[in-house]
Amino acid sequence: MKKELPKSIEFVRGVGTRYARLLQKLDIYTIEDLLYYFPRDYQDRSKLVEIRHIVPGELVTIKGEVIKITEERPRRGLNILKVTFSDGTDVINGVWFNQSYLKKQFQKGKSFFLSGELNEKSWRFRKKEIFNPGYEEIDNTDTIHTGRVVPIYGLTSGMTQKRLREIIYNALKDFSCHFTDILPVEIKKKYGFLDLDRSLWGLHFPESREHFIYARARLAFEELFVLQLLVLNRKKGVLSKKGIQHKPCEKQIKEFLESLSFELTDAQKRVWQEIKGDMEKAAPMQRLLQGDVGSGKTVIAALALLETIANGYQGIIMAPTEILAEQHYLKLKDMFAKTAYRVCLLIGSMSQSERKGVLSAISEKMVDLIVGTHTLFQEGIEYYKPGLIVIDEQHRFGVEQRYRLKEKGENPDLLVMTATPIPRTLSLTVYGDLDLSIVDELPPGRSPVITTWRDEESRGKIYNFVKEKLKEGRQAYIVCPLIEPSEEVKAVSAMELFEKLTDSVFKEFRVGLLHSKVSTDEKKMVMDQFRDGELDILVSTTVVEVGVDVPNATIMIIENAERFGLAQLHQLRGRVGRGEHQSYCIMIANPTTEEGRKRLTVMTETTDGFRIAEEDLLIRGPGEFFGTKQSGMPDLKVANILKDHKLIQIARKEAESIIEGTDEWQEKYPLLYEKINLIELKV
Ligand code: ADP
Ligand code: MG
Repeated sequence: MKKELPKSIEFVRGVGTRYARLLQKLDIYTIEDLLYYFPRDYQDRSKLVEIRHIVPGELVTIKGEVIKITEERPRRGLNILKVTFSDGTDVINGVWFNQSYLKKQFQKGKSFFLSGELNEKSWRFRKKEIFNPGYEEIDNTDTIHTGRVVPIYGLTSGMTQKRLREIIYNALKDFSCHFTDILPVEIKKKYGFLDLDRSLWGLHFPESREHFIYARARLAFEELFVLQLLVLNRKKGVLSKKGIQHKPCEKQIKEFLESLSFELTDAQKRVWQEIKGDMEKAAPMQRLLQGDVGSGKTVIAALALLETIANGYQGIIMAPTEILAEQHYLKLKDMFAKTAYRVCLLIGSMSQSERKGVLSAISEKMVDLIVGTHTLFQEGIEYYKPGLIVIDEQHRFGVEQRYRLKEKGENPDLLVMTATPIPRTLSLTVYGDLDLSIVDELPPGRSPVITTWRDEESRGKIYNFVKEKLKEGRQAYIVCPLIEPSEEVKAVSAMELFEKLTDSVFKEFRVGLLHSKVSTDEKKMVMDQFRDGELDILVSTTVVEVGVDVPNATIMIIENAERFGLAQLHQLRGRVGRGEHQSYCIMIANPTTEEGRKRLTVMTETTDGFRIAEEDLLIRGPGEFFGTKQSGMPDLKVANILKDHKLIQIARKEAESIIEGTDEWQEKYPLLYEKINLIELKV
């Protein structure tokens, strides 16, 4: 069984109080933290280059003895420190600018490792120089720092590379073989994973490239495996509770579908069957409904809500903003008009008396379908038998809230809808506890939005084009990054542009203004006017980003498009292209970075939400894509969620077979169970 090990880093040789304090600055408190503090880079010192062989254009490490130190002051404010090193084959200068204090580190006769790239220019003058090289003194008695691949760690001031390397080396030597390996033996055998001790060594002090690769794979697998155990265990916990077993109500569904002005697409039909199947099971539904903007998720939500209501329960649908909640409300009220069911809206900006009325209607079951924002889940709202909760636009709410919601009522079914296409490997991790349904088909007759990217100079032409379309009876959105002009941020503001356009360019048209500082009543009025065609142009901020549905609006102009993320641009574009007329998205932008240009180019190249999400993820990384805090997931130290597809898949498979295929898995795998409980406490 497990031997109790000392926990504190002060037990590691070479640590002591002073270094313990420095290590804490790096978030290292225990020996385990220390062994899991992995290098940020490596340097191959097993194959040192002879100075006579170095050429520019490659990163090299050489070993040399200091033979000369000089300092120059070619002009005021510039100090150049040159240290000449020799390895017997040739000499090379390490050059530092305005770092005179480094001089005392280099004494004649001492040996150093030097790493960096040869300076092009001096090379042309037949001199070998490296500017600001990495350097480390060689102590001839040691073997940790020489003749091998050495780890390079992230440091804090007061801590040196050498010292930290020694501390970690000592910790590995004295403690790593005593660490409990939580990976089940059969899994290690099946995939040929190294054991824990050898893997930790392999990440810090790899003996070869293979050693490193195998060590990394094992540790990455372990992280992903534990993560999968965590989400699947959560899911099992939910599913093992008794939920609501809805009875089929084919007749009502059929009538409802007949009342619509369109047929469901095949994708919608398939997804509805998946949802219906879940709802008619005893276990609570936990499903993610994913579909690009405009793919018709709302109708599917309506069907699911109808099913719960027809079974005598209340249906709840929550949107991320008041505007969206209102849109859903109007739409659903319309769809439910031919049924006997009552729909109500609950949002934060209602007056006290309105609110009171709605609340008592809810608790007395005077309403069947409740639409609202997050206010729906505040204290003091008593639902009468909630049967299904639909959450629209999940990424704005976060995983934790998902679980809090479930506490209302007796395990109601849960349907999460998102228009953010989530790449498969990510949905296995971040949304790993939800089953996935994808609407992968747009309703017929939609032609892709024509997307272009123009600069400031083309404004005149753009406006003429817009006028033409308005005269044909269409409507346009103009989205700005700012509400009002700002001193710090140079970008177009909605207020300013609104005035300019109403005063001149679009004088003869009806222009509306919408942003988050407008009062709720006015917001509603403006939105209504635009929906009813009483406004030709809507100048706004990103408040129109999600859910707004006006099929006659066919033009989306995005000001300072370089300021928006890809996902956001895609959402904005999704506001047009919803009707029979050809739609256009015109981005006015002056990107200054390569990344910015890349984003805009991706937008003009594709309307495929999945490709856009993949690109977005690559540009921003998963942390920002979801908002690290929101994702509710532990940090991964070794695994890469974007690149380790294969490992994610096997981790999923093995975790499934343990959690779903083993009775009392917690008792059979106590180490794994202990581990996921520890993590659960942290996230
Ligand atoms: P999403 O929420 O997925 O962005 P919506 O549910 O708002 O999309 O649907 C977008 C538009 O397409 C709505 O106007 C809706 O009425 C319409 N729609 C939905 N399904 C179909 C269909 N099968 N055929 C034609 N139009 C549809
Ligand atoms: Mg929607």
